[in-house]
Amino acid sequence: MDTTPDVDADVVVVGAGCAGTAAALKLAQAGLSVIVIDRGDTPGAKNLSGGVLYTHAATDLFDGFLAHAPVERVITRNVVQFLNAGSGVAIDYRDQALEGNAVSVLRARLDPWLAAQCESAGAMVMPGVRVDRLVIEDAGGQRRVLGVEAGGDTLRCHHVVAADGVNSFLSRAAGLRSAPRPNQLAVGIKSTVALDAAAIEARFGVSGHEGAAFAVVGDCTEGIGGGGFLYTNRESVSIGVVLRLDDLAASGKTSSDVHDRFLAHPLVAPYLKGGELLEYGCHLVAEGGLAMVGEIAMDGLVVVGDAAGLTLNTGLTVRGMDLAMASGAAAAEAIAAGQANGEAAGIGADYRRRLFASFVGKDMETYAKAPAFLERRRLYGAYGDLAASVLRGAFLHDRRPRRHLASVAWGALRGSGIGLSKVAGDGLAGVRAL
Ligand SMILES: Cc1cc2nc3c(=O)[nH]c(=O)nc-3n(C[C@H](O)[C@H](O)[C@H](O)COP(=O)(O)OP(=O)(O)OC[C@H]3O[C@@H](n4cnc5c(N)ncnc54)[C@H](O)[C@@H]3O)c2cc1C
Repeated sequence: MDTTPDVDADVVVVGAGCAGTAAALKLAQAGLSVIVIDRGDTPGAKNLSGGVLYTHAATDLFDGFLAHAPVERVITRNVVQFLNAGSGVAIDYRDQALEGNAVSVLRARLDPWLAAQCESAGAMVMPGVRVDRLVIEDAGGQRRVLGVEAGGDTLRCHHVVAADGVNSFLSRAAGLRSAPRPNQLAVGIKSTVALDAAAIEARFGVSGHEGAAFAVVGDCTEGIGGGGFLYTNRESVSIGVVLRLDDLAASGKTSSDVHDRFLAHPLVAPYLKGGELLEYGCHLVAEGGLAMVGEIAMDGLVVVGDAAGLTLNTGLTVRGMDLAMASGAAAAEAIAAGQANGEAAGIGADYRRRLFASFVGKDMETYAKAPAFLERRRLYGAYGDLAASVLRGAFLHDRRPRRHLASVAWGALRGSGIGLSKVAGDGLAGVRAL
């Protein structure tokens, strides 16, 4: 526990999402005094995820996570689908080895549970309070964060953890980050639709606690860079689209129209039939990958989770929650070590080292080329049409004489207007990026 009288707590964590709660838990477990502040009336009230949570970070951090956390279903079926106006081509991957690998979650249920674990470990959680600014001391050009101002009060601490999400005004105010470029951000629009468990099991081919995750590309975004998702919860489905902001603006369409059209698509609507809309919301998504990470610490401040740009979209999976938790843990370990050995000045460098030694930094590096690859417009229409044309040639038996599949494929490629060199180039770039 902190014993110096000039601080209200050793650490103030701003944001009680995945990143902030992971940091707060580890800091409290290390014996530091921690205050967690969140502007939501309850922790997570304003948070929104698709949300498939890859569980390894959560199970490392939170005791009995899979047994006790309010998880929805265990994802054992992954479908990746090219969706066209009147057709769809999918890879349908089921594997018993996936048991426990990923779960669907609803943040309005998960985040209060995460916050409760922090409280049990000794952290003080203050919901319904917005942090207005950082308190920064500038001693002859040497800047150091001394605390935060919230609701007219000043809270002084040794370290602030900025876990305030993708907009992170704290890291911007500290001068660590500039406003992201429009091609580094996407907007996610999500609905939660109530369906009874029996309907979910029948429609998605799952049983018991099993669940399915669909990643959709193509007509779901009307050619705009991004994709659609459809995840099963216990008694609801989470469905929506993620649209790259620059592409959306250029299209002249509204995000809500694209979302509504996806839900009404003839291949999608049957999954939702008879369901009742429970929730609808939108939220920004960091899409810039490694290039968006930049500076993540200064004296007295570390930046974690979405606030640090730690989200990965590979087209097959969207990950942010596990990266947020693991980055929160890395920051907490660096702070606890710095406090213990009295070397506060090295905490930022130590956090960066721990982050990039962990799967978070390594995965960000592995997928560094993914954002540029996913800017290729052919992914959002032409390839889905091409795949459907080839399969139509194999499965549609009309009175025309049959042709070998290679000839069908070659004809479909010529008809698509894409060209062999572009297919080869995209394939090579895809293999390198993903
Ligand atoms: C549509 C969509 C689909 C997604 N799908 C997935 C998915 O399937 N799987 C996955 O892993 N990730 C997914 N993500 C990404 C994932 O949601 C984020 O990466 C993750 O939530 C980041 O956690 P975080 O704790 O860093 O930030 P957040 O969860 O955004 O938490 C930030 C917290 O800070 C609080 N806050 C902000 N400003 C202040 C302030 N000034 N004062 C006090 N409190 C403040 C907020 O209230 C919030 O609680 C998706 C995102 C979207 C939008």
